[in-house]
Amino acid sequence: MTADLGIDSLDDKQFADEVNRLNKEVANGMDNYVRLPEKDGFVILRFLPKLKNKPFFVACRVHRLGVYPNSKTVFCTRKLTPTPRGPKWIPTQQDHDCPICVKYNALWEQTKKMTNMNEIEKVKTLARSIKPAERYYYNVIVRQQLNTKTKTLETNVGPKIYSCPKQVHEIVMQSITGSEVSGRRKLGDIANTVTGRDFRLVKQIKGGAYPDYGQSSFEDVSPLGTEEQVKSWVTSYHDLEAIPIMLGIDEIRKILANFLDGDAEKAEGVNAAAPAASKSATSKVESKVDDDLDGVLDSDWDTALKNIGVQ
Ligand SMILES: [Zn+2]
Repeated sequence: MTADLGIDSLDDKQFADEVNRLNKEVANGMDNYVRLPEKDGFVILRFLPKLKNKPFFVACRVHRLGVYPNSKTVFCTRKLTPTPRGPKWIPTQQDHDCPICVKYNALWEQTKKMTNMNEIEKVKTLARSIKPAERYYYNVIVRQQLNTKTKTLETNVGPKIYSCPKQVHEIVMQSITGSEVSGRRKLGDIANTVTGRDFRLVKQIKGGAYPDYGQSSFEDVSPLGTEEQVKSWVTSYHDLEAIPIMLGIDEIRKILANFLDGDAEKAEGVNAAAPAASKSATSKVESKVDDDLDGVLDSDWDTALKNIGVQ
């Protein structure tokens, strides 16, 4: 009778293979990302050329709630959008704002109405713990890296995804265009296959805690690779646009509520609902706070990518 209905039996061997494959994918997932030195050090990268109809990089913001490895990573629903006053992170639709950004701004507004310094500091600490941080994703080749499994030095590894903090993204952009502010000279198309340049990403731990990348810069002009290498690399880019996994507004609200509940003991009373900030005040607060903790998130942030979502 089953034969008549075209029903097949399950081959457990086949599913064992599938389970293995899935396990491998999880393990290999992080191998897709550029690994940075744990402490002070550098890595040489080559930014891969922009492809037609594909972005050179993808910009997004993330909220990391809590402390790694128990943190939860939530992609911000605000998008970098061109405005008459330059690109701004704004909600994509009315009434569709990121609940964590709304809370973050409300906390800063709340501190303005407070007088007790201790209490103000507590609210500020809570605000910082849900602060949005900008991330930029690029396709790159790692010119040289130590394979931690085989202990051998590998060259030209990739394409890999470089998860780039705002500080490095600025250096890259200013190097392309030149910048009077930073004094960087104009290098033009740093990703050109012939006249482009490798990038020396220098990491220094400042104050014993925060990574600083300010010493990073582009090297002399050099070709990307041989014709075969270039061909193989440009046909195997990572889909950068698929990286930010957007949760629904309700789901984000739930994650935020859980985080604030869990944190309530430490933050005593700061979770009382704060009045929503007016629009102009909000943007002012944000620009003031924006450069507060930039660059704090580091490579291990990517490890936290697997913590996306409620569980
Ligand atoms: Zn947000």
